[in-house]
Amino acid sequence: MNVDDVPEVPEWLPGHLRDDGIEELYPPQAEAVEKGVTEGDSLVASVPTASGKTLIAELAMLSSVARGGKALYIVPLRALASEKQEEFEQFERYGLSVGVSTGNYESEGEWLSSSDIVVATSEKVDSLVRNGASWIDDLSCVVSDEVHLVDDAHRGPTLEVTLAKLRRLNPNLQTVALSATVGNAEEMADWLDAELVDSDWRPIDLRTGVHYGQALHFDDGEKRELPVRGNEKPTSAIVRDTLDEDGSTLVFVNSRRNAEGAAKRLAGVVSETLSNEEQEALGEVADAIREVSDTDTSDDLAAAVERGAAFHHAGLARDHRSLVEGAFQDRLIKVVCATPTLAAGVNTPSRRVVVRDWRRYDGSVGGMAPLSVLEVHQMFGRAGRPGLDPYGEAVLLANSHDELDELFERYVWADPEAVRSKLAAEPALRTHVLATVASGFADSRSSLLSFLERTLYATQTDEPGRLERVTDDVVAYLVANEFLEKEGDSLAATSIGHTVSRLYLDPMSAAEIIDGLRGATDATAMGLYHLVSRTPDMYDLYLRSGDREQYTMLAYERESEFLGAMPSEFEDARFEDWLSALKTARMLEDWAGEVEEDRIAERYGVGPGDVRGKVDTAEWLLGAAERLAGELDLTIAPAIREARVRVKHGVGEDLIDLAGVRGVGRKRARRLYEAGIEDRSDLRNAEKSVVLGALRGRRQTAESILENAGREDTSMDGVREDPDAKSTAL
Ligand code: ADP
Repeated sequence: MNVDDVPEVPEWLPGHLRDDGIEELYPPQAEAVEKGVTEGDSLVASVPTASGKTLIAELAMLSSVARGGKALYIVPLRALASEKQEEFEQFERYGLSVGVSTGNYESEGEWLSSSDIVVATSEKVDSLVRNGASWIDDLSCVVSDEVHLVDDAHRGPTLEVTLAKLRRLNPNLQTVALSATVGNAEEMADWLDAELVDSDWRPIDLRTGVHYGQALHFDDGEKRELPVRGNEKPTSAIVRDTLDEDGSTLVFVNSRRNAEGAAKRLAGVVSETLSNEEQEALGEVADAIREVSDTDTSDDLAAAVERGAAFHHAGLARDHRSLVEGAFQDRLIKVVCATPTLAAGVNTPSRRVVVRDWRRYDGSVGGMAPLSVLEVHQMFGRAGRPGLDPYGEAVLLANSHDELDELFERYVWADPEAVRSKLAAEPALRTHVLATVASGFADSRSSLLSFLERTLYATQTDEPGRLERVTDDVVAYLVANEFLEKEGDSLAATSIGHTVSRLYLDPMSAAEIIDGLRGATDATAMGLYHLVSRTPDMYDLYLRSGDREQYTMLAYERESEFLGAMPSEFEDARFEDWLSALKTARMLEDWAGEVEEDRIAERYGVGPGDVRGKVDTAEWLLGAAERLAGELDLTIAPAIREARVRVKHGVGEDLIDLAGVRGVGRKRARRLYEAGIEDRSDLRNAEKSVVLGALRGRRQTAESILENAGREDTSMDGVREDPDAKSTAL
């Protein structure tokens, strides 16, 4: 189908696509148009990675906006929101506006109401619905990217319920669900009352296979000899072979540590082949990486990048990730060793893909578990860059002849699994039942059940009565904790239940927090950090061997600070949870005690991204605790506020005021304080030379900080640094 023949799209679109080199729609795109995707019809598109799903979404959204509507694009990962935003911003020159919801609905409400296309994660959309964001009612089209993730035990239920709510708010809503190829695309289409495009088509040929011994074995029967030198690993041989053909390799491994180790090793293979020009350009990327943060991870990444390789995982800062992705797309970095987060959407095709580890640690089974076919196929799908490579190649690695056969059976020949709803899992249902009642989608047991009937879970369960049974259990829990009130068939959220739902807390977290706060008259920061770390909303740090003893001792030492009773050592699982929460709380205490970020990362064996992640979660949970304490008239609210502000800025009590000034931050706050400037009002009145000295002579920084502190005359012209301020600060 030619781009001129697509009905109901804005008239500028064909020209725009042609400018981008798109004349003809890919076959799955053409099929989507034939099935009415530009005429407002709902659609499930189950097609391989990199086969042009984004354009299907754009056709739907642009035609919907052209008819006077408003579109929402739901991304599976926060990291993808900005990538999609940039992608859609190309339409702004035609007068469309694009917004990203970052979650603070009060501050962004206005602006998003006027956006034609909004990008958000499913959690954000869920939160917006709970908080009654008015523009949600105006939606005419919703796109759900990577909808197969409804299968994800942790995040899937939110997506599932969010789609059900949006469709309930507007029964005519066009729903476009984009999915990797899955085993039950038809069932997904039934669930969403949608047309189906189910296709294996790819724009570039993909050969898949398994490496074993001294050769790559492909699915078409070809065997490519690949001599392995000395005792090097097979991945090195594959990378070298790809480099010989001027190609890049993406290696998927099962842990961050492995990603870092493999990148370091493979950098040795790549560095031999780099030209002077490439080395110079890579040196610049490495410098930019070091600028991002001053941590070991940053240094390790820069060292690998200088030699043409990189690692990529969720422990990296966002700027690290985009620098790596950019340099890989520019073909400067030749090898990226990644954990599977990357496979889920960031657009980084490469000539070859190696799935090195096909098992990974799975907490729910307490050991290694094989990856799903769907995941492996998604990784495979990253192989081959249309227009650049003749074809893509993707391989797994086998250690024995038996494993060679097994991997062919298990992954190369296999069809992807069916997507299964995870809504019946208790934490998910607990959260969503409360939110469904609190935000007015149900006011009785029967209307709650009929709402839940619209979920994928209901479509799939063949066990009669199961949905009712789990729903009743959850309702009983919510009533017992005073989040819901039940009278006969009717259900209503209590005032605290409303708050919990709006705060986006798991009701169990709220119950734990309320329980801990109720008994207390005062609390230390440690007590509060531990309390919020105990909730299911905080992913605790993992206890390593050796940690148990250390944290058991610490638990007894600090026992008087905990809010709530410590479980006995004989209650094995509960005690273990208590200790992991303590380890997490201790990390937060270090952060609020101004310990350097890289020392923290090292001490707790995590990446800088993880430290920030825990800090953000703690700040959010403490904010929620503060609200709950206020609502329950507990006297402890000021202590919570202090703990929250300290964790937010990573500073001691004495710096709370200073660190709150924009542009100051934890390190500068401490230097100012040491120079005798202890709070905002000191900043407004201090000798400029002292301020400048404490800020190490950075004039612009000093001026903007003074301005942010509310000072009128901020000019640093002619001011000389006070050398004393500097020396006491060091
Ligand atoms: P997916 O979302 O399915 O993983 P993308 O939408 O990212 O895949 O598409 C992959 C690439 O294909 C993009 O670079 C896109 O510009 C290009 N593309 C999409 N549709 C066409 C088309 N009809 N003709 C040529 N290139 C296309």
